[in-house]
Amino acid sequence: MTTEQNVLFTIFGGTGDLAKRKLYPSLYRLYKKGIIKEQFAVIGTARREWTDDHYREIIIETIKDLIVSEEDAIEFASHFYYQSHNVNDSEHYVSLKVLAEKLEARYHIKGNRLHYLAMSPDFFGTITQQLNEQGLVSDTGFNRLIIEKPFGHDYETANILNEQIREVFDENQIFRIDHYLGKEMVQNISTVRFANNMIESMWNNRYIDNIQITLSEALGVEERGGYYDKSGALRDMVQNHILQVVSLLAMEPPAKLSDIDIRNEKIKALRAVRVFTPEEVKENFVRAQYDVGSNDDILLNKYQNELNVAEDSLTETFVAGKILIDTFRWKGVPFYIRTGKRLSEKGTQINIVFKNVPLNLFSEDAEEKLPSNVLTIFIQPTEGISLQINTKKTGIDLETETFDLMHQHSAETLANSPEAYEKLIFDCLNGDATNFTHWDEVASSWRFVDAIRKVWDQDKTNLPSYPSGSMGPAESDALLAKDGFYWYWNPISPDENEKK
Ligand code: NAP
Repeated sequence: MTTEQNVLFTIFGGTGDLAKRKLYPSLYRLYKKGIIKEQFAVIGTARREWTDDHYREIIIETIKDLIVSEEDAIEFASHFYYQSHNVNDSEHYVSLKVLAEKLEARYHIKGNRLHYLAMSPDFFGTITQQLNEQGLVSDTGFNRLIIEKPFGHDYETANILNEQIREVFDENQIFRIDHYLGKEMVQNISTVRFANNMIESMWNNRYIDNIQITLSEALGVEERGGYYDKSGALRDMVQNHILQVVSLLAMEPPAKLSDIDIRNEKIKALRAVRVFTPEEVKENFVRAQYDVGSNDDILLNKYQNELNVAEDSLTETFVAGKILIDTFRWKGVPFYIRTGKRLSEKGTQINIVFKNVPLNLFSEDAEEKLPSNVLTIFIQPTEGISLQINTKKTGIDLETETFDLMHQHSAETLANSPEAYEKLIFDCLNGDATNFTHWDEVASSWRFVDAIRKVWDQDKTNLPSYPSGSMGPAESDALLAKDGFYWYWNPISPDENEKK
């Protein structure tokens, strides 16, 4: 596990928010674990004219909550070098190459290069092309490319981007980040399924009634209004994170837990997701936008009044939908998904709702439904798992009561568990692509999302709204109610939701 890796990282967007908040702290954690130690160097590059010294000060600032001693932080930061660079200017790649070769010699790095594109995807094509043309893709060692989301704006733009990148890098050299796949409990989905016969043997349409996935955010768009207004919840959350979770839940058991086997099964599952006709989109998907409201007695603005958002914006900040997977295993089992901003609580959870017992022996009315068994996987901020079951209420009468068998990771475990980005960079260093998204997965996801987008883009009527601090619009509850279901996770009761 802790074999030292020798590698040269080049971080494009080295002055940016992602690099500072996620990448540098993750590299430091890997350094503390001895995964990168002496034979590594980092080139940070962006347009700002920083010196190496200033860059190193920034690095130390970004890891200040993690450092054990000042000497240690200085030693870590001494591996970082800065090169001012406009990615559109080919001259700069020449000096980048000179620096890369100098650092490889200094740190005895054997040609292993990890190019991290932590900047807008608009530049990905240019950067990869220049890396190739100016000879920055080394002949020895590995060359890997990590790229951030969003991967395209729709299938067409994603395909163009992919073709540009594929001119230089093979699919097995491309690591497309979906940071949800670095989360402990998302990775735990496979363990829960494949390490428990009781669960896997019931993981099908004979026993499962429906599956619900909620990715709920309490915050609004904050300073990201400019980006978000062009994207919306469907592209920002459903195309990537939600469909990735769906594929892990829906895939068939892989022959082995290797990246190739798992990816093949995920790809098959995503290909089986039904791409809706316009009529089916209207029936199965709802969107909405947050209105004024309150949370914890704080008054909240409506979306159209947010910074850099058009006053007449029709961008959705909430999506709920029903996904259907046309396989033997899942025929007839709806996967309900919902995601939104400014909801009452931040949290990601999956609820697997099992079918009811055929008769209720505990009621005079045998048709009266008992509460369903529900397996819940808590992804964030709580990490854990629970199972809702019915038992006998203590007393002389034969009454039932429902409670949860619950396991939650302790605060200590959470504090010591690797950050998503740390885990993903570690996997990339090991050439393990399990937790990255293959092009075929991206392509299937866009085809599904594009069909919905097309219908919504043609409809210029106002969107339904929901009060900030609620769990979304009434249309979201109605979507499940018409199938005889309800959202199992309800941080606030439907009555309260209505009142908001
Ligand atoms: P950001 O803060 O705006 O950083 C962009 C970086 O690109 C800066 O370092 C900027 O530095 C550099 N840059 C811009 N134009 C350049 C050019 N022509 N030549 C060279 N460098 C240039 O963005 P970010 O939030 O870090 O996001 C980066 C990527 O990660 C995006 O694809 C985003 O969608 C994705 N992402 C970010 C987060 C997050 O938490 N921030 C989360 C998920 C995904 P200069 O201005 O100095 O040139």
